[in-house]
Amino acid sequence: MTNTENPEAAILTGDDLAKARSREQENVVSSILGLVLAFVFFFVWVYGGLSSALRDALGGDKDLISRILFIVVFFVISSITEFPISYYFGFLSGKKYGLLKQDFKGWLVDNIKENVVNSAMIGLLLFGFYAAIRAFPNAWFPVAMAGVTVFFAVILFISPFLVKMRFKSEPLNNPELEARVKKIFAASGVKLTKTSRWLFGEKTKQGNAALIPDGFGSEVLISDTLMASMQPEGIEVVLAHEIGHKVHKDLYKGLALNWLLFALIVAAANYSFSTIGMDGGLRGSSDIATLPVFFFVATLIGQVFSLITNATTRAAEYAADRFALEITKNPKAFEAAFRSLARENLSDPNPPAWVEFWLHNHPTIEKRIAAARVWAKDKGINVT
Ligand SMILES: [Zn+2]
Repeated sequence: MTNTENPEAAILTGDDLAKARSREQENVVSSILGLVLAFVFFFVWVYGGLSSALRDALGGDKDLISRILFIVVFFVISSITEFPISYYFGFLSGKKYGLLKQDFKGWLVDNIKENVVNSAMIGLLLFGFYAAIRAFPNAWFPVAMAGVTVFFAVILFISPFLVKMRFKSEPLNNPELEARVKKIFAASGVKLTKTSRWLFGEKTKQGNAALIPDGFGSEVLISDTLMASMQPEGIEVVLAHEIGHKVHKDLYKGLALNWLLFALIVAAANYSFSTIGMDGGLRGSSDIATLPVFFFVATLIGQVFSLITNATTRAAEYAADRFALEITKNPKAFEAAFRSLARENLSDPNPPAWVEFWLHNHPTIEKRIAAARVWAKDKGINVT
């Protein structure tokens, strides 16, 4: 099927291409809306006096309970305000393009679950941040960053659980594919502990594969959707790519960059606390009601910083692609796999350069295939 298609053909055509383009436009619109909402939010909470009013209503930032309550209520109000955007671009859009298979109730339950877990983790981090400012007014920065370091270590530890939160897994039960997986792991020198089927099919049409830490080795997750749509040679390529990330330690590089991002946010937030954190009835750095200021600063810095992280991840993707080609030596299967992924996920194969620069942490599929062809040409392997 996919391995014999015409390599000169466009990656997506007709209806698929139109859908992928339209999805990409929605992606841009939702990103702009998210930014606009962040500004509106900030002005309403700080200059509209909502934040100081909520603080006073919940006990005036006097004790532990009033601070925890403030964080919880802030998160609940934020989630409700953002709900129309995630409903439109998550649920309605997923249905429109035929990618989402869940009904509204199933989608909503999954979203609430994820929101609660994320909010609990971030809420805990923020609670610790304000506690550090109170307890160590002159040395809170190193204390806060030590807290962030512990937080990252915990995230790393529970990441397998987070990965399987939306999609469960079960043993693969496919000896042929397992033999292939074992072979590429052996060729890469990475320890394989378990191969599992990732249960995407009941919820989405999209496909994916991943490597997650399992003790001192790695567990492989292959979505049932991917197994249905892609040849085993293609799945080998996708997994070899994931192994490439592991060998290149991309996860740790990403965490290091995010640690730096947190350091910038924490420093900038503290600076803002002494300026805008005194407006709208706010009382500066130790006041829990400055939380919206913190979020606004985090959003702005996060936006700028994401241009850097996106560029570094795109470079890491090319490197992992190269690793996959070196291990499998099968550029034909590489190309077929990426054509298949573009179709399954309705990914725009060649979005405008500025969209790629701003929003994408993966190179466009057209560029990845072009890079694979250059690799094949260098090695003297014919792909056509
Ligand atoms: Zn990748």
